[in-house]
Amino acid sequence: MNQRAPHPSFRPAQGAGEGLDWAGVDRLDYKSEGEAPFRGISRRVLFDQPELQGQLRYFEIEPGGYSTLERHEHAHAVVILHGAGRALVGRAVRPVAVPDLVWIAPWSWHQFRAAADRPLGFLCLVNQERDRPQLPTPAERAELAREPALAAFFAGN
Ligand code: MN
Repeated sequence: MNQRAPHPSFRPAQGAGEGLDWAGVDRLDYKSEGEAPFRGISRRVLFDQPELQGQLRYFEIEPGGYSTLERHEHAHAVVILHGAGRALVGRAVRPVAVPDLVWIAPWSWHQFRAAADRPLGFLCLVNQERDRPQLPTPAERAELAREPALAAFFAGN
């Protein structure tokens, strides 16, 4: 288990349009390439504390990028911290912006998309111990896309 001392040292963004950064916090790959579909997203682990059995991560999606459409048994508590975009949770798509809260219940399909012209950054609280995400089968994805709002979301519109 990665036991990391808290280090809430905020480092201001370098210029307009750039995202959030913290001294001593590495910018990591979101997932391994090829593991799942995603575009333009980075991951930072801000806290990884056994005392809380939790991890607080910061994800940042570039304009036009998106996280993986997935579901799993563990839940996410999300706080939008930067920029704007949209979130699919379950069968609902809604716009999100600072400082919206998004609750992703166990086994809910979820995906985040940054706006075309703005990044989307959010905090995501999870259990340290968690199951691996499931991706939709082609049939499940097609079933979700029967909802016009979800089809438009998947198409990036
Ligand atoms: Mn997830």
